Amino acid sequence: MPIEPAVLLYDEQCELCQAGVSWISALDRDRRIRCLALQGLDVAALDPRLDPETCLRELHVITAGGDVLAGWEGVRHLLGLLPAVATVATAARRWPVADRAGRRFVQAVTASRWDLMRVHGRTGHAGTPPRPPGALSPFWVCYTTEMLLRLPLVVATTVRQLGANATDWARTRGRRISLLDGRLTICFLTGTPTALVPLAFGERFTVAVYDGVAIDPGSSRMRRSLGRHLDGLGTGLRAVVATHAHEEHVGNLDWLADRTGADVLASPATAALLRPPYEVPLGRRAVIGTIPPLRRWQPIGDEVATRTGHLEVLPAPGHTLDHVVLFDPAEGVLLAGDSFMGETFATPNADVDGDRWIATLERLSALDVTVLVEAHGHVHTVREDIPDVAGVVVRRDPKEAIRTKLDNLRWLRAQVEFGRREGLSDRAIEATCYPWGPQWSWERKGLDELARLFTRGRFSRTQVVRSFQRRHDDVFPQVRAVRFAATADPGP
Ligand SMILES: [Zn+2]
Repeated sequence: MPIEPAVLLYDEQCELCQAGVSWISALDRDRRIRCLALQGLDVAALDPRLDPETCLRELHVITAGGDVLAGWEGVRHLLGLLPAVATVATAARRWPVADRAGRRFVQAVTASRWDLMRVHGRTGHAGTPPRPPGALSPFWVCYTTEMLLRLPLVVATTVRQLGANATDWARTRGRRISLLDGRLTICFLTGTPTALVPLAFGERFTVAVYDGVAIDPGSSRMRRSLGRHLDGLGTGLRAVVATHAHEEHVGNLDWLADRTGADVLASPATAALLRPPYEVPLGRRAVIGTIPPLRRWQPIGDEVATRTGHLEVLPAPGHTLDHVVLFDPAEGVLLAGDSFMGETFATPNADVDGDRWIATLERLSALDVTVLVEAHGHVHTVREDIPDVAGVVVRRDPKEAIRTKLDNLRWLRAQVEFGRREGLSDRAIEATCYPWGPQWSWERKGLDELARLFTRGRFSRTQVVRSFQRRHDDVFPQVRAVRFAATADPGP
């Protein structure tokens, strides 16, 4: 006979409730607990003894036997239903001191969770007490508690992601993948110690060759790998294009052009960045390579002629100010460089401009894109003429992917603006931008903190907050100050 499950009524807007529900779904093997969000639920119809206000104030549980339990009594009952943690419930029943500690803890959490929600911009919550700006201790208490609650999950997903990164890297290492009847070839570039980047963060290095045009041919440390691909590519390379001036995209522009007789095409803004003096930060220089000065180049213009047609050149500032993308309107292929970079936004480089990136994605989302080619090894498409390639082809409609990224960026901008209005510190704003509730936020936490550590904060979630405050006439710190000093603003 199936067991009638106990029902947990929880507040979907509360990060703590969400953390609890994540754990219940991980531990409740026998499905003895049914979790129902209060939002959109007719509580009185479920049980006439209950009303929404009381349920929002604290957690309520309806046991399988029909009892209604609130707060700590409810938590203790649920703990007893989960074999992995049932000893906690047993201990609380046996020892009054443990029971009191549990009750105090749940009371403290219940009292401070509304402060957290207010900081998260959920001021519409009934009964939310007003609070002077800057008084954040309940917020940090909540934030830290949530972090501890999720830490094992974060560690587990980080380990899993590192494993997946290693698998993808091994699958594609040095490979050349030909798609669209040979019109598009993606060459995976290797080198030591550049492999550290794909292994740690999943960003592999590639050069895309589209109908006789090579795009972003890697860094100086990947030259040998690029040379090995050259034989397989055949002749007839017409142009070598840089989408932007980051070192893993521009290290072999002249080198490849010298060997193939192709022209080097770049935007004037990118070419200006490739004139000395420039400085790649030490860590990136050591792992990825430095930027050789650009000897000869032609302005890329609005169109690039390919072997059989042409590519439109579209300005795409955001990831960097000089970024351009290439689009084949006939095929719906967008060669996006780094203008997409996954559906959520975290640990950007220190030269990101969030507002401009939103404007760029708005324009890209209006294009009829059927194949989105990223510079770091992924192709997003649902087209059936593109086969499944493990670790490369992502079966996702590129237009939807772009819209999702756009929504994520707009939400982050709203969080940053809200935080500014409330007078919060950058650290607190960062925490509100990455709440513990949504999976996209906590499952990347481990790798994002690793990126912060390795780059001493240059690639970090803090940069997301800063990216929405940048104006192109600001004086920027470190990398940006050096690298963009000579740049003409390419305009929005
Ligand atoms: Zn880049």
